[in-house]
Amino acid sequence: MPNKVAIAIGAHPDDIEFYMGGTLLLLKQAGYQTHYLNLASGNCGSVEYNGPTTRSIRNTEARAAAKVLGAQFHPSITDDLEIMYRLDLLRALAAKIREVKPTIVLTHSPQDYMEDHTNTCRLAVTAAFARGMPNFKTTPSRPAADYEVTLYHAMPHGLCDGLRRRVIPGAFVNTTSVHKTKHLALAAHKSQQGWLDVSQGLNCYLLAMEDLSLEVGRMSKRFKHAEGWRRHLYFGFCSPDADPLSQALGKKCMINKAYERGLNCLR
Ligand SMILES: [Zn+2]
Repeated sequence: MPNKVAIAIGAHPDDIEFYMGGTLLLLKQAGYQTHYLNLASGNCGSVEYNGPTTRSIRNTEARAAAKVLGAQFHPSITDDLEIMYRLDLLRALAAKIREVKPTIVLTHSPQDYMEDHTNTCRLAVTAAFARGMPNFKTTPSRPAADYEVTLYHAMPHGLCDGLRRRVIPGAFVNTTSVHKTKHLALAAHKSQQGWLDVSQGLNCYLLAMEDLSLEVGRMSKRFKHAEGWRRHLYFGFCSPDADPLSQALGKKCMINKAYERGLNCLR
């Protein structure tokens, strides 16, 4: 029986709540130990406070959000717009993977609207890939361990890639039963109310999350609120058929059969 451990790896405080929070809550209900890590501190997310003050405010908010999600909080390892595909960050994230030993990794889409998200995805994929390679050194140093891990990519912002092409999920997770809690977790990021209004034209970040989960729900043609996922290719990670997310969530996870046949459409 594989370890029931899942980690969500987002770029910024509030990304997990937007794209992954419902699934993380359901995994917790299914008996998984869940972990919460944003690679960046959120220090650029304000026009009101300076970087260090914003970093501190957002650290407190992210801790509160992780508590609402019932997930173990891990501090960020860098700052906003500094998530590069870089060796020091890879060594730090690989150490975290070796400590947590997740069998499920939830992270961003490989194609997304901004590079912090894309680079978070790349770092998460390689950090998980390096879990069993003793000659790859982590910071701090952690022993390698080989076991199966399956990676899942969240939907990109706006449900399309950086070139405006629609992205279709390979699986839909019915988050309706945990939607209120997901909402509460996102609301813990109080400082983002004003910032996202100013910077990205979101009239309310809570409504934006609401619209996103309803839209993915509509795409599923079955669920009211949903999160969409695409499973990473198995080479170097797990057996070809491994799908622990679907296994853990049962009927709450609906596979989009058309997706894996290479059809860019629904079911
Ligand atoms: Zn983000």
